[in-house]
Amino acid sequence: MKKKKQGHLFFSLAAVMAVPIFVLGIILIIMGKQSVSEGMSLEICKSLAGTARNTADMYNIAYPGEIRMENGRFYMGDVDLTDNYALVDRIKENTGADITIFWKDTRVLTTIKDEKGDRIVGSVLENQQIADLVFGGNEYYSSKVKIWDDSYFGYYVPLYNGDEICGMVFAGMTNESIAANVRTIVAKIVIVFLLALLIIFAIASVFARNIVDRLDKIRSYIGGLAENNFSGQMPEMVLRRNDEIGEMGRHAVEVGKTIKDLIYNDPLTGLLNRRAGRIELDKYMDRADRNKKNKVTVVLGDIDFFKNVNDQYGHECGDMVLVTISELLKKYMKDIGAAVRWGGEEFLLVYGEDREQTLADLDKLMEELRHITFTYEEYSFSVTMTFGLAEYCSGQTLDGLIKEADDLLYRGKAEGRDRIVTGV
Ligand code: GH3
Ligand code: MG
Ligand code: MG
Repeated sequence: MKKKKQGHLFFSLAAVMAVPIFVLGIILIIMGKQSVSEGMSLEICKSLAGTARNTADMYNIAYPGEIRMENGRFYMGDVDLTDNYALVDRIKENTGADITIFWKDTRVLTTIKDEKGDRIVGSVLENQQIADLVFGGNEYYSSKVKIWDDSYFGYYVPLYNGDEICGMVFAGMTNESIAANVRTIVAKIVIVFLLALLIIFAIASVFARNIVDRLDKIRSYIGGLAENNFSGQMPEMVLRRNDEIGEMGRHAVEVGKTIKDLIYNDPLTGLLNRRAGRIELDKYMDRADRNKKNKVTVVLGDIDFFKNVNDQYGHECGDMVLVTISELLKKYMKDIGAAVRWGGEEFLLVYGEDREQTLADLDKLMEELRHITFTYEEYSFSVTMTFGLAEYCSGQTLDGLIKEADDLLYRGKAEGRDRIVTGV
């Protein structure tokens, strides 16, 4: 049998399942990154707002009194806070956010340092619009605040001196630090996704292999039929399936049965036909060759004066007689051998027994046949048969054995019919 390319269907199925999963995964990762960024931006806004407001409150509580600039030094209440970074540094340590206190729009206290490591105090807020907004009593948030060369998520709140706005408090985080966080989260998502992909792919591949395996079973069953092998079994796991594959398997079995029936069975009587009879006899002879205890005896039987039945009562009546006799043969041969329609009104019986036992069994069959009254329309009649019986001797050919039985049958006809001739 020509083997088909193995596994082709499996890879097609696996690809069909894997590609959408993969595409879905990529979309999920992109969307995940997007929503993580958006979600974080919102969270950062809230947390920076809290930090900025708390910082303003903390300074007001820690250093109550008037906020002012005197001789270039920054005071809150009585305390000169110039170069006093303890509190801003502490807040940065606790929150991770950079803090800047502005007097008007000038940085007086800050945790932000330039590339030389010096705090950028004394510098002025780059974007005057922000200052205008905050000094108008608003809070301001942007994810793109530029401070020197760095880009920040930044939150500005007003710093009140009594009822008057005298400065601002800034809390911010560099985009770079946030991006690193996003990358970590996305990396985790990617790992989880890859694991899920692996699991889904493993499940899909088991599923695909299962389908391909079942289809393969059906394929080899049908392949067997194509090579005249009707002994192949359709596995239960295919037949039990409740889906199209199970249906396909059951159909294949039906088709197998039909073909076998067409090839091996006689359509009128349902007995094995000559071709199947030869195969069956061959098996019995083979078994006998392998083990001397296994005996084979063949019987060729022919209906006596059958032509007369046709001539007197019609061909249809003749058919009825053939069917009735075939049923009788089937009944007697069940479990002990095979009954074959060898030709028109000639039958081959294959017994897995020796000559004596076969003779005894055949006698009973003949006796029953003699007592059958065939009725057709207004007619009733009986028929007899003549039999030639030969036991298989090791080394004999199939045709030799049949010929021996046929010669004995011929002798029976010549000697007066309605008898069994055994040749001993
Ligand atoms: P003998 O005792 O010598 O066997 O005589 P016979 O008449 O049985 O033998 P013969 O060979 O002369 O005739 C056999 C007949 O069987 C001829 C044929 O028309 C008939 N026959 C063969 N096959 C069928 C069949 O399928 N149906 C019917 N109705 N008749 C059949
Ligand atoms: Mg005859
Ligand atoms: Mg004949």
